Amino acid sequence: MRKIKIFDTTLRDGEQSPGCTMNLAEKLEMAAELDKLGVDVIEAGFAICSDDDFNAIREVSKVVENAKLVSLARCNKKDIDRAYEALAEAKHPMLHTFIATSDIHLKHKLEMTREQVLETIKESVSYAKTKFEFIEFSAEDASRSDKDFLVQAYSAAIENGATTINVPDTVGYTTPLEMAELIKYLKANVKGIDNVDISVHCHDDLGLSTANSLSAVLAGATQVECTINGIGERAGNTSLEEVVMGIKTRKDFYDAYTDVNTKRIYKISKLLSTISGMVVAPNKAIVGANAFAHEAGIHQHGVLKERSTYEIMNVEDIGIPQNKMVLGKHSGKHAFKDRIESLGYDIDDRALEEAFIKFKNLADKKKIVTDTDIEALLIGNNASVENPMYTLKSFMVNDSDSISSFASVSILDNKENIVEAIGKGNGPIDAAFGAIDSLTSNRAKLVNYSIQAITEGEDALGEVIVRLSSDDKTVIGRAVSTDIIEASLMAYINGLNKL
Ligand SMILES: [Zn+2]
Repeated sequence: MRKIKIFDTTLRDGEQSPGCTMNLAEKLEMAAELDKLGVDVIEAGFAICSDDDFNAIREVSKVVENAKLVSLARCNKKDIDRAYEALAEAKHPMLHTFIATSDIHLKHKLEMTREQVLETIKESVSYAKTKFEFIEFSAEDASRSDKDFLVQAYSAAIENGATTINVPDTVGYTTPLEMAELIKYLKANVKGIDNVDISVHCHDDLGLSTANSLSAVLAGATQVECTINGIGERAGNTSLEEVVMGIKTRKDFYDAYTDVNTKRIYKISKLLSTISGMVVAPNKAIVGANAFAHEAGIHQHGVLKERSTYEIMNVEDIGIPQNKMVLGKHSGKHAFKDRIESLGYDIDDRALEEAFIKFKNLADKKKIVTDTDIEALLIGNNASVENPMYTLKSFMVNDSDSISSFASVSILDNKENIVEAIGKGNGPIDAAFGAIDSLTSNRAKLVNYSIQAITEGEDALGEVIVRLSSDDKTVIGRAVSTDIIEASLMAYINGLNKL
């Protein structure tokens, strides 16, 4: 069987998607989790793009042990130098350099001739080779480029030291058959291609990114670029979980495998949706809430008799908690810790203490605490604010359909002062947020507010995610509670603490 490498770009291409910006703590948590997931390559950012990106790559370098760590760079010395600096402490550094090759991009974006592009590739890849052992070269917009020019571009990159050539379908334009033909054509014509990895990077504008990637694998690609939950520019990137489970479930067909530990897929999917605020659609393949739900009577009957009648994958293989054991208010810290560990979380003593207090509070309100509840208490916790500026102390809301809503909120600041204010607004949440704004002199704008039930039943935990933006900064605030107003206030305050 052939090994297919997984190149994850959640932290670079994924983070570029609207509203998906992550702060440093969140990126670090994601990077550590990606490394545990077993991906071969992690693209951590675009070093020259901003100081934030540069710092993130630097810090991520310290937590990634096994995967190759990549910074993106355009084909020029300045970009390459900056990437090299950012990756100085990476255990396995790698450069990803790119230039567009399609006539549309040459004419309208680069204003360069094909000869100039070829010259640039030679110069920059050979320069990069003086600093990096591993270099990936991407021909941006490859799927809309002239095939013979692509052959020249990739041949030049390999000749000058590229160890991976990447074939991006930058605008999500290609089709599975066309992608396979392109890979075969490149394999037959690019000089030295047998000695390098052939990578594909597909976007999902027409809903074909996974199909195009897998088709490329069949035609000889050895690496797929993807993101968790398929986040990314516009309609997103190829989703990692679909490619990995596609290859695993149909290894008879692809005759290939990946090194991804699939049992960690669900956890990382959940982590990303929590910290990015990008909720996964219930019908999303592999990780959607309904991906393993059987509604039709005939299907239920079949699955109960023999799982494989209607299920092609094992829920356990993806690491979805099965609620096999429940905890209650009499459960001790030991049982709680056991449960946490069996869910795949490594937790230090401080975090355990915090989580246990939350668990006890929850157990007082809910008779039965399920794995999903515990997960909701834990996830994204490492990215929580360590010494929060504000903490919610108490609140009271008064809501009516005939007069304005009023809220009285008191918060504790980091100097142990309790301050209180009253807000008036259009509904209880608006009124309470107004009170918090006046207490914190907040000028950030609430861009998005979402609420969803995490578990079933009337005592379900509600999860609130708010997106706040001020100047050039956007943050996500999140909280869970059995009381949705409390969850809303805590999420709002969590966002302000991050700002
Ligand atoms: Zn992309």
